[in-house]
Amino acid sequence: MALLFDSGYVADNVAKIRFRMEKAAATAGRRPDEVLLCAACKGRTYETVKLSAELPVDVFGENRMQELDAHLTAGAYLGKPCHFIGHLQTNKVNKVVGKAALIHSVDSLRLLDAIQAAAARQKVIQDVLFEVNIGGEPSKHGVAADEVWPLFDAAAGMCNVRVRGLMAIPPAYDNGLESQRYFAMMRRLMEIAKERRFENTVLDTLSMGMTASFEAAILEGATVVRIGTGIYGARE
Ligand SMILES: *Cc1c(COP(=O)(O)O)cnc(C)c1O
Repeated sequence: MALLFDSGYVADNVAKIRFRMEKAAATAGRRPDEVLLCAACKGRTYETVKLSAELPVDVFGENRMQELDAHLTAGAYLGKPCHFIGHLQTNKVNKVVGKAALIHSVDSLRLLDAIQAAAARQKVIQDVLFEVNIGGEPSKHGVAADEVWPLFDAAAGMCNVRVRGLMAIPPAYDNGLESQRYFAMMRRLMEIAKERRFENTVLDTLSMGMTASFEAAILEGATVVRIGTGIYGARE
C-alpha cells in the first residue's frame, strides 16, 4: 500500500518513461515535444492522480466518466487537460463532452451522432479520435481499418465535432517489437486519411503505445502514448 502514495516512486517512473520517450523520438528523428505523455490513471486515487499532476506528464487519460467527473471536480489534474481513453457508452456522452479535451475512443456512428448532439447543446466543438481495432480482435472495441471511412464521412457534416486522428490498442505482447507492425499499419492508415482531405479534420494526433510498447509506437509516429502501469505500478 505504501508504494501507491510514494511520490518518489511515481516521480522516478515518470522520469524513466520521459527518458525512454526522448530516446525513441531521437532514434526516429523526431523532436521530443512531438509526443505527449498521457497518464492512464484508471482506478487510481485522487491523491495519486494529484501528485502525478505535479510531474512532467502532459495530459491525463480516463476510462470512466465517473472518475473523470470526480477528479475534475476535485481539481486532481492541477489544470492539466484530461482525455477520455476508455470505451464510451452513448448514454454517458453528455458528461464527457466539453470536459475531455479529446475523446480517443469513437468507434460507431451512433456514438459520433451522440457526441455531435451533446456538443451542439453545449455550444462547443469536441475533438475526437476514431478508435481502430487494428489487430481485428473480437474482444476489443474499435472499428476495422476499412470501416473508419464512413466515420470520417459522417463527421464531415458535423459542425460540433473535429476529428484529430486515430487511436489503437493493438494485440498485447510483452515486447514492443511484435507490436510494431500494427503501429506501422496505423501510421499508413493515418497517411491515407490525410490524403483524403476530409472536412472537419485536423489530423495531428496518433494515439498509440502503452507501457510495454510505447517506444515502438513512437518509432511509427505516435503523438500520444498512454502509460498506466509504467507510471503508477501494477493495478490492484
Ligand atoms: C489502461 C490503459 C492504458 C495504459 O496501459 P498500461 O499497459 O498500464 O500502460 C492505455 N490505454 C488505455 C485505453 C487503457 O485503458
